[in-house]
Amino acid sequence: MIGVCIIGAGFSGLGLAIRLRQEGREDFVILERGREVGGTWRDNTYPGCACDIQSHLYSFSFAPNPDWSRAYSPQSEILRYLIDCSERFDVRRFCRFGVTVVGCEWSGDHWVVKCADGSEIAAHSVVMAVGPLSEPSIPSFDGVFRGPRFHSAKWEAGFDPRGLRVGVIGNGASAVQFIPFLQREASRLVLFQRTAAWVVPRPNRVFHGLEKSVFRKLPFVRAILRAGIYWAREVFSYAFRYPRIMRVLEWMALRQLARDVGDPVLRAKLTPSYTIGCKRILLSDDYWPALAAPNVEVVTESILRLEDRAVVTRDAAGREYRHELDALIYATGFRVTDSPFYSRVIGRGGRSLAEVWNGSPKAYLGTTTRGFPNLFFLLGPNTGLGHTSVVLMIEAQIEHLLKLLRRLRSARALEPRSSAQDEFVRAVDRDVQNTVWNTGGCQSWYLDRTGRNSTIWPKSVVSYRKLMESKNLEGYEVRE
Ligand code: NAP
Repeated sequence: MIGVCIIGAGFSGLGLAIRLRQEGREDFVILERGREVGGTWRDNTYPGCACDIQSHLYSFSFAPNPDWSRAYSPQSEILRYLIDCSERFDVRRFCRFGVTVVGCEWSGDHWVVKCADGSEIAAHSVVMAVGPLSEPSIPSFDGVFRGPRFHSAKWEAGFDPRGLRVGVIGNGASAVQFIPFLQREASRLVLFQRTAAWVVPRPNRVFHGLEKSVFRKLPFVRAILRAGIYWAREVFSYAFRYPRIMRVLEWMALRQLARDVGDPVLRAKLTPSYTIGCKRILLSDDYWPALAAPNVEVVTESILRLEDRAVVTRDAAGREYRHELDALIYATGFRVTDSPFYSRVIGRGGRSLAEVWNGSPKAYLGTTTRGFPNLFFLLGPNTGLGHTSVVLMIEAQIEHLLKLLRRLRSARALEPRSSAQDEFVRAVDRDVQNTVWNTGGCQSWYLDRTGRNSTIWPKSVVSYRKLMESKNLEGYEVRE
């Protein structure tokens, strides 16, 4: 039987594998449905894909990279970094690529992990490192569009928009990165926007050769840069908890909008009506200028139906508009709180995660859930962030998880006590209540179908790290 079965070889799965190796463990596997490591940074290949957190912070603390080409590195560089880490720390040989997990079932003292090819793997513990943003969400509209169509996370490699009329549904963090490309290439771009988004400048400076060699030869300089980014972002976390501070950022964004978009009608369409930070803050210098170009139309009427080669919208007065298109791109986000996978993880008593959570994921420390012994989540419920790098959260979770996995070497099973889980969830619910995510007047993927915020960690990363360091086994029930 395998000791630890890690599902997913993205930042979380690789990070845990590397730390297990550093502890001298070899009794684990990583099951990865793709053909390479990298998770979201392997899957999202749309033009312009990049991280909106500075790379010197959006990387493992134990694997600094002096060679980042710019402040916010592109997807290809982040993917290369993760591949390098998998080689450098010798964890590739633990990866089984092309294995899609379709379900997991607790059998009393171990998990049975079921794979798409019909095979089963017995594992003492399972770590879900599947990433919250891995299951594309595709809304269903009446009718069918029959031209080329795909989700932004499954960008078609051969798609050439030159000379085409392209429609884009959605204007979140993904769309904002590829829309400038489409505007340049397509003959016409129609953006179907439901909610105007806040966009702030992205000062993406290039690191020159001299800087990179300083980072390489004088690691403390790079460490100071990382610490500077870390603390600046930690201070920024206050703005999410005290949204009035956000007005400064709104003022900056509106100034950028006024500068980028001369047409008052278009500017009105693009002016958000909620408090900045309620949805993910978008970083871009070329998104609004792209929308102001003559070959672009921003449609704010709601989508009524799809036709063979058109999207039909309807305004408040009931008038219908037909937008003829050659291709349609869904930039409609991901299934975060209602992943289809939840119904296929069956814990103690034969109950699935979907049944236990009932639309609102809850976990002790964002890491384990009562009723699911020896099952752990990396970037689980309430560990998402709006202000800084989630890699910091992943690392804090991994260090805590290592304590549990050490204990499980001699114990049969371990799961959180109901009291510990309830207390944690209550504290998070209380802390998130007055933050901008809950009070900013928007509908975001941070809120689940019950209206509860089950994705965001509402405080600083420092506080989460401290919490995770302070917790040992007191919140768990251990079965010898
Ligand atoms: P998203 O933020 O969830 O945006 C989805 C977009 O689709 C929204 O504009 C949404 O409109 C729209 N939409 C959804 N359903 C719709 C419907 N039925 N009709 C019309 N419009 C609809 O998705 P995303 O842009 O892929 O980003 C998801 C997350 O990925 C981000 O929040 C971020 O955490 C992460 N991400 C990070 C980076 C990075 O640089 N690190 C880059 C890309 C993505 P509404 O706003 O009205 O709901």
